[in-house]
Amino acid sequence: MLIEDGKIAKIDKDLEAGTAQVKNVEGKVVAPGLIDIHCHLRDPGYPEREDFKSGTRAAARGGFTTLIAMPNTNPVCDNPVVVEYVLSKSRREGIVNVLPYGAITLGQKGEELAPFAELIEAGCVAFSDDGQPVSNAGLMRQALIIAGALNKVLAVHCEDRTITGEGVINDGEVARRLGIRGIPYTSEAVMVARDILLAEETGGRVHICHVGCARSVELIREGKKRGIKVTGEVISHYLNTTEEDVQTLEGRFKIKPPFGSKRDQEALKEGLVDGTIEVIATDHAPYTRAEKERNFKEAPFGLIGLETALGVVLTEMVHSGLLSLPEALAKMTCNPAKLLGLNKGTLDIGGDADIVVIDPDLEWQVDVNESASKSRNCPQHGRWLKGKAVMTIVGGRIVMEDGRLLV
Ligand SMILES: [Zn+2]
Repeated sequence: MLIEDGKIAKIDKDLEAGTAQVKNVEGKVVAPGLIDIHCHLRDPGYPEREDFKSGTRAAARGGFTTLIAMPNTNPVCDNPVVVEYVLSKSRREGIVNVLPYGAITLGQKGEELAPFAELIEAGCVAFSDDGQPVSNAGLMRQALIIAGALNKVLAVHCEDRTITGEGVINDGEVARRLGIRGIPYTSEAVMVARDILLAEETGGRVHICHVGCARSVELIREGKKRGIKVTGEVISHYLNTTEEDVQTLEGRFKIKPPFGSKRDQEALKEGLVDGTIEVIATDHAPYTRAEKERNFKEAPFGLIGLETALGVVLTEMVHSGLLSLPEALAKMTCNPAKLLGLNKGTLDIGGDADIVVIDPDLEWQVDVNESASKSRNCPQHGRWLKGKAVMTIVGGRIVMEDGRLLV
């Protein structure tokens, strides 16, 4: 592969190196750089948790070359000024590409729609109120109509807060054993059903963020059969973590939707295998030690995952034989790119040289203290994974090699 001026110039068996730098990647897999369509970079507003520098460095270490940043910052990314801030600051401080989501509602308050056309004009690639559900069904319906006319996706955080109540972990076996208030799976599933129905009626495009329970997978599968424009995403942590892991009541296992049962986990994997779920994302959500070390009930929901997602996916989906390597990588490259209409996620000649080199057989133990993120709230800490990004190239520039950041 020859890279010139930040683009993929040639792929051939016999290439003249000329004056180019040569890297031997024999025995490794060269793939399009990973795209994470669900992450939180915390700028503006929460620099103690993450910023563009630390977040994109964690991304590069994990093999990601493009991040789509959620808008639940402070201020919320609901107007062109904040979009411009995210784009310009991430270009200055970041080492991978960052593209913003615009909010669905102003201030993510769920009361009034954000100006979608203006936000697209400013550079938003899709819309989300992630972190918050759009509880008002009429408003969600209106959002689907407007975004649909603009051919943009609404990435929805499905949660009915009246069902979540004071729940903190999955309402299942473990919650009962520990006597902890659980979150019933219907908190997620009723909103998934609602949003699929609204997408059916309006013709809008709905993308279900962080699918957590078996019932939601069935709803998406059925929606697809009916020809509804619904897509779904699984967050990598759910592939090797269940409610059983949450028993220690450490903040690094507290997430929304909560880690479910073994059966939920199997359903997520089945959804990935049969194509019901086309995207795997990280939901990288950094929180400080102090925030996560509050007692379990009060600690915020959310976990970091940029550096471990690929290893988890390769271990759980590829080495287990559930998906081929290209099928698994598609869910982190060309599928998310297609979903959002990004001209990325391939190794096409003339395309951006955003590339990851993967050692699929490298076995490594996750040590969160090596993370480039500012935060440490990672459920993978201490686990062994098989498969890792060993080189990340963004726009033709090598930004990470063997875990070391080069810029
Ligand atoms: Zn969410």
